[in-house]
Amino acid sequence: MPPEPEGEPVAEVLETEPRTYDDLERLRFNQVAVRLNLPVFWATDADEDGAIDPDEVRVLHFYTDEEVAWADDDGFTAGFDEAYDAIVAASQEPAPEDPRAAALRQELESTAPTLIETDLSEMPEPHQAFARHMAAAAGHLDALYAKQVGMTAMAGQVGDDPASQSLFRRNWGPRCRGAATESIPECSAIEGAPKQPVDVYPAELQSQENFCEALEARDDSAALLGHFTVVREGEEEGSLRAVPYHEAYAAEIAPIVTELRAAADAVEEDESEEKLVAYLRAAATAFEDNDWDPANEAWAAMNAQNSKWYVRVGPDEVYWDPCSQKAGFHLTLALIDPASLQWQEKLTPLQEDMERSLARLVRRYRARDVSFHMPDFIQIVLNAGDDRDPFGATIGQSLPNWGPVAEEGRGRTVAMSNLYADPDSQARRREIASTLLTEEAMAMLGGGTDAGLMSTILHEATHNLGPTSATKVRRKTPAELFGGGLASMLEELKAQTGALFFVPMLVEKEVIDEDAARETYMDSIVWAFGHISRGMTTPSGQRKPYSQLAAVQVGFLMDKGVLSWDPEATAADGESQGAFSVDLSNMDEVVTELMKEVVRIKATGDKRAAEALAAKYVPDDSPVPHETIRERYQRFPRTTFVYSVHF
Ligand SMILES: [Zn+2]
Repeated sequence: MPPEPEGEPVAEVLETEPRTYDDLERLRFNQVAVRLNLPVFWATDADEDGAIDPDEVRVLHFYTDEEVAWADDDGFTAGFDEAYDAIVAASQEPAPEDPRAAALRQELESTAPTLIETDLSEMPEPHQAFARHMAAAAGHLDALYAKQVGMTAMAGQVGDDPASQSLFRRNWGPRCRGAATESIPECSAIEGAPKQPVDVYPAELQSQENFCEALEARDDSAALLGHFTVVREGEEEGSLRAVPYHEAYAAEIAPIVTELRAAADAVEEDESEEKLVAYLRAAATAFEDNDWDPANEAWAAMNAQNSKWYVRVGPDEVYWDPCSQKAGFHLTLALIDPASLQWQEKLTPLQEDMERSLARLVRRYRARDVSFHMPDFIQIVLNAGDDRDPFGATIGQSLPNWGPVAEEGRGRTVAMSNLYADPDSQARRREIASTLLTEEAMAMLGGGTDAGLMSTILHEATHNLGPTSATKVRRKTPAELFGGGLASMLEELKAQTGALFFVPMLVEKEVIDEDAARETYMDSIVWAFGHISRGMTTPSGQRKPYSQLAAVQVGFLMDKGVLSWDPEATAADGESQGAFSVDLSNMDEVVTELMKEVVRIKATGDKRAAEALAAKYVPDDSPVPHETIRERYQRFPRTTFVYSVHF
């Protein structure tokens, strides 16, 4: 080895030269960090110097249980420098030749990681302590949901490279979920891309074709398809039995119960949080005895006036289940957004009118007495379990889905007001829309987030109106009448058509003006394009309810001349060939017609008409330009939310 050259000590010069941290632009930095499974995020380039600064870096939640610090009072930590170097180096690696590694990179780097950030440091101590226990509960709930969806059972097979680990963590299993990557056979966190059986049915059963239909056709289907049970093999050969969640998942449930009670103890000191405390205790008990109705009662008693927080923890939605029957565990921790109070005041007096206007459309449907809470606006702090999707996030929700609180219309509805409200998301949405709309149509699209929030409020309110997911026809539930997948799609179609149908009523009652009405319509159309772009079915062939309802809406609006697809037109981006023009002059009547058909189908249990509606617009060769819409969206990274909380 040659001796070190005399003169300048190289290492020292490098050390004294300040590092600039400007090798990568922000989006790229965050994308590569995801591939390396690093809980680091460059939140904003506040000083616009193109370099990451210590006050611009965040530690991400849900990656690791270990304490991580990227910056302290002296600036970046040594750990950050190491992470930064790794990210820069990884960004320069050539495209991998191995098809699996290449597909994983595409899946993980074709996203736009988007931050949901909350600062709780100014809150009173009992609330901070409460939130810390809820964050711990969220971690345990993740473990429960991971078990439920069959992720835990596969964890040992995941490749130990960071990309495989990151994908597995984010996607709740090995499967790729990006629109362009989910159909690549090699795209998996596990070599050989094995299937992921869910835990709630025997794996052997799931390997049979149409096993959901087979279960639905059995004499004991009501017992086996209960929402809060798992199906296990019985003692006798080929027999099946239902096991309640609190027995099947006792080990995973115990630490959640402990944290919920600790959270209740912590916040009890604040006497104004009586309802929150009561709910936390009721939820803990429900985890132990699997009777969710008392927890729902305590939950329905909470509102935007009597708590600073929005909390929901338990099993609720069924979208994750291949049979759309079993409730998935989730935990939502959010702060009440005070802006909701104004909207509630304006909209609550209209509930009866809204319900009656649906009953007027369809003679077979009689208006019910409806009194539900108008949506509370909430600002998401943490989404755990079924709430934390690989891409995007739920922007509105009406719960519970079953039980007396649901049937008597006493549930709660929320709109998540801090999602997609960030400048990055807003800019991206406009950019994508400009590839599909003509310049004239684009000019009708508003800015800001008000229109989207309005749609979400109406969508969620409509879940409580007309025939709901609990309404029986000929003594059968919608799931029994239509099958789980089609029932979910119809209920969402009703809700999302409500987001259009009630707009004229709000104008008439002077809740919103004509401009806001137009912007709400346009926002909903762009929303539908986004869902169409995600494809109509999961790789295993299950209906995606939002995607399919979006195709039905866009197809219907095309048939009625509201939307016109011109393959020769140039889109507003000035480049894309083929664009939609929009004529809203008939919109009110067209939407009324669609709403009438959807309510009629649900109120009469008309499965044939429901299937026909889907068959008309859902297939690729329908009038809806599915492929083009997908292609336009695939030019842009999809949102994947990441979380950061300061205590
Ligand atoms: Zn919905």
